[in-house]
Amino acid sequence: MTRIYAIANQKGGVGKTTTAVNLSAYLALSGKRVLLLDLDPQCNASSSLGIDKGKVASSSYEVLLGSVTPAKATLKNAKLNLSIVPASPALAAAEIELVGELAREYRLRQALGAEMDKFDYILIDCPPSLGLLTVNALTAANGVLIPVQCEYLALEGLSQLTRTVQLVRQRLNPQLDVRRLVMTMYDTRTALAQQVVAEVEKFFTGKVFKTKIPRNVRLSEAPSHGVPIIAYAPSSPGSQAYRALAQELIEQDFPPPEPNQPDDVHVTSVDSTPPMQQPSSSNGVSASTRTDDNAAHSTPDEIAQNA
Ligand code: ATP
Ligand code: MG
Repeated sequence: MTRIYAIANQKGGVGKTTTAVNLSAYLALSGKRVLLLDLDPQCNASSSLGIDKGKVASSSYEVLLGSVTPAKATLKNAKLNLSIVPASPALAAAEIELVGELAREYRLRQALGAEMDKFDYILIDCPPSLGLLTVNALTAANGVLIPVQCEYLALEGLSQLTRTVQLVRQRLNPQLDVRRLVMTMYDTRTALAQQVVAEVEKFFTGKVFKTKIPRNVRLSEAPSHGVPIIAYAPSSPGSQAYRALAQELIEQDFPPPEPNQPDDVHVTSVDSTPPMQQPSSSNGVSASTRTDDNAAHSTPDEIAQNA
């Protein structure tokens, strides 16, 4: 079964995109077939992977409007073993353009229907709002990952988000089930961070990932190089944390096999991986790297060799 996660929090700057990009990269490196779908008009996930938002031929905007299939809009980074549907600034208008359209909340769900058996994970990077884009992501998803910044008032706004999740579940998507929180920008040295974690864990018992993402400057530097942390500073604390988060998620979603059966889930790291390039650039992702199927997926060993 494909696990589709909306990475959502209407609060801005809490680590949604950082989590979407780096979790995707580590899930992919573990051998999972991963599609990262950028549904934010800011296009930060796309830029973080070296994609020039001004040059993408087709994006999640066209996918949402139904003029192209997700497969047509998908770029493939073979070294990262990662597929991505980039965003475009035009997405900002989609909410208005879709007003009056029938079943406008189901657009993404319908579009992703055909992709289901091609991926183990589809991660959707949502914008900082609870508008139609996020509602489309929640309607398409079977789980929500909520990055929560370890700061004062961290819980503020979470009740509104969980109410929205509940409403979507009741009215649009009964399968929307798992709600998991990732604590981000965690600073072990401050008592405040520990208090915030304790408070969030009290309200969301059993829903908070054991792995906390530390505040780490390497995580904020990697996007400017157009690569995930795995390819920029693989041994940094931020990288190790996203590696552990991917492992934790895989263990929850794909419980280990019974003893005596081979356990093949291992996350390794690579030293350097070039950014995903523009379709039109000379050394970039060309039409041939757009993929309509998963044939181009590499094994972890191949990635390690290529890196
Ligand atoms: P938006 O709501 O605008 O989409 P977001 O929730 O996606 O924001 P990010 O863009 O992931 O948040 O992160 C906000 C800023 O904080 C970025 O500059 C990012 O590089 C930085 N950042 C995110 N996580 C960390 C971290 N763990 N340590 C240090 N910096 C981080
Ligand atoms: Mg973002």
